[in-house]
Parts: sequence; C-alpha cells; structure tokens
Amino acid sequence: MAKVTGGCLCGGIRYEIEGDPFRIANCHCDDCRKATGSAYATNLFYQEDQITLLQGSPKRFDHTADSGNSMFKEFCDNCGAQVFGGGSMRPGVKSVKVGSIDDANFVKPQVNLFLSHALNCTLIDEEIDCFDAMPPPA
Ligand SMILES: [Zn+2]
Ligand SMILES: [Zn+2]
Repeated sequence: MAKVTGGCLCGGIRYEIEGDPFRIANCHCDDCRKATGSAYATNLFYQEDQITLLQGSPKRFDHTADSGNSMFKEFCDNCGAQVFGGGSMRPGVKSVKVGSIDDANFVKPQVNLFLSHALNCTLIDEEIDCFDAMPPPA
C-alpha cells in the first residue's frame, strides 16, 4: 500500500506510515472513550518502525489500564488531538488513531473490543469479530 500520512488537528504533529497495519480494532473501552472524546476509538496497530514522525513531538501521558498493563497516549500539546497510543502488553507496537489519518477510507476494522462497555447509542458492526473485553492473547 502507498504511504499513509496524518497528523493532529492544528498540524503541529505530522507523521508518515510505511506498509499496512497488522490489526485494526474498534475499542469501546472507557479509557479510549475518555482519551478520544468520542463514543469509541478505531485503532490501527503498526510496528513502531513503520511510523516516521515528520514534524512536532507528541506529549506523552502514561496510565494504568484495568488489566494492570501500563498504557500511554501521545497527543499534541497545542490542539489536544491524540495521535498514537500503546501499552506494555505490546512492546514495539503503536496504535494510530483513525481520526488522525488524512485519508482513512482504506480502513476496515476487523474486530470490536470491550463491547460490554459500548454505549447504547453506538451502532455495532456484528459482521466482524466481537469480544466483550480483550480477547485472550493469540
Ligand atoms: Zn495539534
Ligand atoms: Zn480501548
């Protein structure tokens, strides 16, 4: 696939991604909701070295998930838009927030996570794999 480009709302952070994501997940957990300010997060998972930061440097927020895993969010300290995330359960991997991608029409989520936390108003695509929480590690 061609290179994917993206960035934050103000344009202070810009990035480029080489190659395809190995997983695309809709996450309905409370943390994703709080971090994105949206009903759920669509996260594209890449190896860190597929992502090149072209401009800016995201501010990092570390926190602990209910699972006990340590998690981080990376966002623009000017406009507040979250661009990346990650956690101790997948070292070397970053998630990219779908909304930060310039043209995200190629994105086809493969899985719904934490459906037990989904909002009543969220339309769920039941054609893809659905999990009430996190699926057991493959
Ligand atoms: Zn920004
Ligand atoms: Zn989540």
